[in-house]
Amino acid sequence: MEPIFLKPYFRPKIWGGRKLKEIFNYDIPAGKVGEAWVISGYKRAASVAVNGVFKNQSLRKIYRENPELFGNPKSSEFPLLVKFLDACDNLSVQVHPDDSYAHKIENDSGKTESWYVLQADPGSYLIYGHTAKNRDELAEMIHHGEWDQLLRKVPVKAGDFFYVPAGTIHALTKGIMVIETQQSSDITYRLYDYDRIDQKTGKKRELHTQKSIDVTKVPYVDPKLNINVKQEKDATIKTFVTPPVSPHFYLWQVELDGDWQTGLVNHPYMLVTVISGTGVIKVDSKIYNISIGDNFIIPNMIKEFSFSGKMKMIISAPGSDN
Ligand code: ZN
Repeated sequence: MEPIFLKPYFRPKIWGGRKLKEIFNYDIPAGKVGEAWVISGYKRAASVAVNGVFKNQSLRKIYRENPELFGNPKSSEFPLLVKFLDACDNLSVQVHPDDSYAHKIENDSGKTESWYVLQADPGSYLIYGHTAKNRDELAEMIHHGEWDQLLRKVPVKAGDFFYVPAGTIHALTKGIMVIETQQSSDITYRLYDYDRIDQKTGKKRELHTQKSIDVTKVPYVDPKLNINVKQEKDATIKTFVTPPVSPHFYLWQVELDGDWQTGLVNHPYMLVTVISGTGVIKVDSKIYNISIGDNFIIPNMIKEFSFSGKMKMIISAPGSDN
């Protein structure tokens, strides 16, 4: 069994830029590209395997047809989605529904997401949470366009981590690049779009005001994270989230300068993205070169593997609900 290396799916966005090419050397389409869906089994936007017996098959198909690779999950939908986002301009202020609302209203999953900040221009901030004390106040401030009072602005720098549970009002803003690990869903309710005109259509993008008000958690409360760091040989492992705080995924950052026989083995499978540097992953006696921008899945049958090199990786695994 081999790691399954994946080719990203790119999405043009009005707020996107060219950094996905400049930083990761991805072969992106012309124009403004906002998102690379680097590990995706989503229906309209799945990533495709580039090696091994599954070469040229989408992750969506691989997951459906080979459940044993993923520890025989309950659902036939790949539950996680990993993206790079290049915010060359402000993204719309938005909120995502939770599972129960999304299943009922949208026939899709809810979306809890998380951001690990790769780059941030000096003075950058995120929109994360709101100030309304109750739902009536939230609706009133939205209807009156009191955005400066309503939206919480949080300063941000490279290396910061944010957990964004469903129901949290949020937005990336100009000059920020993140890797986003989230539930596989594409349901976004747009609350405010800075009154921008979409050049493609000559119109403002649609807002989803009532749905946004319905799904936003009030009052906003900071999620209680228990971020911790441990050393395993030459690897520094930072745990950002685990169940039950984050029911949908585990998420780690691994900074390696040397060798690491991973201890992260008690998971049905793992998703790995190299965010800087170069190295190798060894499986049995086989060695695979990896470097910045590479994305792969370590399937269930691979129980022993190790990494060597000087690199940083973001690693995730499905949560207890999968
Ligand atoms: Zn979002």
